[in-house]
Amino acid sequence: MLTYSEKIKNMIGFILNIPYMLIGLIVGIFSIPSSVEFRKNPYAIVVKIKKFWWVFGYMKNARAMAIGHVVLLSPKIEDRDLEHELVHVQQHQRMPIIQPILYYIELFRKGYRDNKYEDEAYRVAGNIYREK
Ligand SMILES: [Zn+2]
Repeated sequence: MLTYSEKIKNMIGFILNIPYMLIGLIVGIFSIPSSVEFRKNPYAIVVKIKKFWWVFGYMKNARAMAIGHVVLLSPKIEDRDLEHELVHVQQHQRMPIIQPILYYIELFRKGYRDNKYEDEAYRVAGNIYREK
């Protein structure tokens, strides 16, 4: 159970991240959504999409992604991928506004799989990274 102050902190994080959530929803619409679900703890909008037809570079093989508090799940998702994305949502909640900047600094320095945000997400969720 979360304490009252944790709930307030999470809510403030959610509100501060609203701009990213809007981007996430637009990306979700572009990716052909098939269903939407709201979750609490962390607050997340989970959108099942048909295809990440627009992805390139290191994200080319993405099965799912989190943009702020929006989680996008493709039909390719595997076991515990949702939990992995919810760890990224928690990272946004912990570090509102600046999380994407911190993530890209880490990505630039350490690459995809070894950066601390992915490392935490794979470790906590227990899902599996595949190169292809
Ligand atoms: Zn990840």
